Amino acid sequence: MLAEINSIADLTAQYPTEKDICHLLMDEDLLHKTAKCDKCGNNMSLRSRGSSYEWRCRVSKSQDCSSKSIKYGSFFKNTKLTLTQATKVMVMWSCQYTSSQISKEVGISERTTCDWRNFLREICQKTESTYGKIGGNDHIVEIDETNLHSRKYGVGKGTNEDWIFGGIDRESGKVFMKRVVNRSASVLVPLLQANVEKRSVVYSDEWRSYSQLKRYFTDHYTVCHKTQFINVVGTRRVCTNGVESMWSRLKKPFKAANGTSSALLDSYLSEFVCRENEKDDFFQSVINGMKIS
Ligand SMILES: [Zn+2]
Repeated sequence: MLAEINSIADLTAQYPTEKDICHLLMDEDLLHKTAKCDKCGNNMSLRSRGSSYEWRCRVSKSQDCSSKSIKYGSFFKNTKLTLTQATKVMVMWSCQYTSSQISKEVGISERTTCDWRNFLREICQKTESTYGKIGGNDHIVEIDETNLHSRKYGVGKGTNEDWIFGGIDRESGKVFMKRVVNRSASVLVPLLQANVEKRSVVYSDEWRSYSQLKRYFTDHYTVCHKTQFINVVGTRRVCTNGVESMWSRLKKPFKAANGTSSALLDSYLSEFVCRENEKDDFFQSVINGMKIS
């Protein structure tokens, strides 16, 4: 199983050749297992070509009717990378190696690595769009906003200040996160309703946009960060430590990479949300998003 591979050493030991990788990707439904000839409609056969395979429709021993790439109709159809190289990129990216580590190990340009990371984050965006609301009956959902500084794409100097709004369900650990144009109630409240079950109990700080949340959710409690870390209300210990530690997990890689481009921020947020929500199944969820339809 590809999702169980979590190092290049494992991959190389278990699937040493390009052909081994081909069969692995076929078993995972990342490559087609059969092909039909575009000219005559007959079933094509898998033939060796160099270190890899291609699909061929044979008329006779010496003549082909047609041939097509092993990558046809797959996520890999437009890449010049070998399947081994592409698989290495996927494994390393899922293990959160940096772009320069990936480029060096796989022997590809940083530009190509960057393109691949973009493709893979697009899969996360699709996966994220399938997620339902977080929270539920008496689930506590902590919410908060934070800002991120990102580089403006194609502009030499200056940074954007992007406000990010998000929440975490204490029961399930599931999160949501969105970039917002401002922190007004008219922006935050509808987003909250779209992403958090109304039967949830919401914890937040005392930001004024949150003043009416009792109307929309089972209950709402606040903690005043100027004076306290925890607001004790009966048996409840109201705090937003969960969402604050989510922000520090979000920001860590941005700090390491010295910020990110504002244009790519949404896809970085999607990748983060998928990693948080899928946990150990993250790589499998990306593989599922790459399957041939
Ligand atoms: Zn044919």
